[in-house]
This record gives sequence, structure tokens and C-alpha cells, in this order.
Amino acid sequence: GTVTPVAEMTALAHSHGVCVLVDGAQSVSHMPVDVQAIGCDFFVFSGHKVFGPTGIGAVYGRDAVLEKTPPWQGGGNMIADVTFERTLFNPPPDRFEAGTGNIADAVGLGAALDYVEQLGMANIGAYEHGLLEYATAKMLAVPGLRMIGTAREKASVLSFVLDGKEAVEVGKALDAEGIAVRSGHHCAQPILRRFGLEATVRPSLAFYNTCEDVDLLVDVLHGLRRK
Ligand SMILES: *Cc1c(COP(=O)(O)O)cnc(C)c1O
Repeated sequence: GTVTPVAEMTALAHSHGVCVLVDGAQSVSHMPVDVQAIGCDFFVFSGHKVFGPTGIGAVYGRDAVLEKTPPWQGGGNMIADVTFERTLFNPPPDRFEAGTGNIADAVGLGAALDYVEQLGMANIGAYEHGLLEYATAKMLAVPGLRMIGTAREKASVLSFVLDGKEAVEVGKALDAEGIAVRSGHHCAQPILRRFGLEATVRPSLAFYNTCEDVDLLVDVLHGLRRK
């Protein structure tokens, strides 16, 4: 759940001549994102992380960097002119969008983005922050629960471990009560091992969650402790 100081990190990388790609798959559904304020060269996210279809996402690239980037595959709509001697590609973004696009999913992703924009990303962020504070306080009161990731700036994602219980076991117990969480290594094995762990349980709260949802989660955790 840690919100990294991404603009500062980007500036630091740029000061060493390093190109920066930000993986925003976890930020786009929780907070407003301004790629120009971040100053990154690339920003990517997956459609399904922002309530859109699977199999589609977005890549933002800065003009100056895209101009210097060669095409990565061939196909329709990316060619300006072809002779036997040479091929001229269309300018970005066309030269990176070879072939017929994934039109239906793009429409779906557009609808999902309209939906969250209509709710307002800042509103979503503020509401989820309230939930995060509520959940953090209640969860820390569960005996034997250790929160993993306790940065000051956090999104509404709460990784934890419970003394004497396997993460997968906790995940299954929550699932049996209709509570969907991720349990496992969350594609983050190096940092988990830095904390001396192989797995955590990770509820992620979204704008459709309520304090009652959190209460149920915490009740089940208390119940597990008594078993
Ligand atoms: C989900 C996720 C991915 C993978 O995206 P898929 O579209 O599911 O392959 C990559 N990075 C982060 C940070 C993610 O949260």
C-alpha cells in the first residue's frame, strides 16, 4: 500500500540520465494521476485494475522519447511509405499500434475511466483514505496481527500476517465468509523477503467498500485467533 514519492524518484533518476517507466497498475484506481507532474518518460496501467476489461491497458510515453523509439511489431496502419529500398513508419503513436486494435475492450476501458472520473478520483482517494484509517486501527487491535507496509503515505491496501497462521489459510477462512483478499507473495518476493516473509494476506479496499465490510473482516480475524 505504500505510495512511493514517484516524482522525486523520477527527478533523481533523470539527474543520472536514466529513463523512467512508472508501473501505475496499483495507483490508477486509488488516486488522481498526472503523468506530466510526475515527469516520467513512460506510465503504464492495466484496464482490469481500474474496473475495465482484462487484456487491455494503456501506455503513456513522452513525445521526445517515443520519437526515438523504433516500432516493436509490424502490421496495418503503421506505415507511411514503402519502397524496395526503405520503409517509412508513421509518427508515434501510430507506429506502435500495428494491426487492428482491440476495439471492444478499448470501448470498455473508456467506459470504466469515465465511470471513475465521474465519481472523481480525488473523492475516491479521500473516501478510501478514511476506510484505510478505520481498518488500520481495528486490525492493529487483533492480537498477533502484524501489518506489513506502514509508510506514512499509503493507499487503501493492507498487507498483514497473523501469528501462527499461514497466509493462504487466513485467505481461505476469509473467503469462506465471502471476503475476497489476495494471499501469497503478490509478485513482490524480493521485498517480502526483506521483511523475512514468504507471504502475506492482503485486503484491498475500494470505493464500494464500507466500514461494515471492515468490521466483518476484523470479526473473522478475531474468530481465527480464538481457534
Ligand atoms: C496487476 C499488476 C500488474 C500485472 O498486470 P496484468 O494486466 O494483470 O498482467 C503489473 N504491475 C502491477 C503493479 C500490478 O498491480
